[in-house]
Amino acid sequence: MLPPFLRRSPKKISNPLRHAKDFCMTYSQWYQEHALKHAKIVEKLAHLSDDEVIAYFDYENMKSTHPDFCPLYGMNQKCHDIDKLNCYLCGCPYFRYDDNGVQKVHGKTVYSYCSINAKERGVFESGDSIHCNCSECTLPHRAGMIKKCFSRKWEQIICSCGDQDGVFPASINSSTTIKTEETKAKSPA
Ligand code: SF4
Repeated sequence: MLPPFLRRSPKKISNPLRHAKDFCMTYSQWYQEHALKHAKIVEKLAHLSDDEVIAYFDYENMKSTHPDFCPLYGMNQKCHDIDKLNCYLCGCPYFRYDDNGVQKVHGKTVYSYCSINAKERGVFESGDSIHCNCSECTLPHRAGMIKKCFSRKWEQIICSCGDQDGVFPASINSSTTIKTEETKAKSPA
């Protein structure tokens, strides 16, 4: 069942919020299912080198070879309009969430945020909820970052990158400062 905060999501949002919305899932459900899909594909690529595995996850190749991997493939759409979009790290390792809410900010429930406060991060605020919006951030879709933290176990990257404590799906670091549009305006990135 799609939670109310996802039903009100706008079109210009990014993963995993967009995936969750499209499939009527919670964040946790999306992460669990994506981990399985990812693992099945990587399992079949044992004969390839790490660089070849990364290249295999190029958007164009994935769209034609694994059309069910992403709902955007069928619509011939990308989450980010960049050349050489790579889908290996879909579900960024810096994305943090809690389906029950991370904390309250100005009376609204924060459900997700960027753990590194990337300067391109955005937020999507509805009446009573706040979500991380990664529409303007391409960091996990660049081969350079994927190579930096590469593992054939997607969930291992998701767990170990940044300040996470190894719990899958990504756990919440309670000391992280969550920046909304309002607090962003008051403080430097
Ligand atoms: S990174 Fe690839 S799989 Fe993920 S949303 Fe974008 S197009 Fe879809």
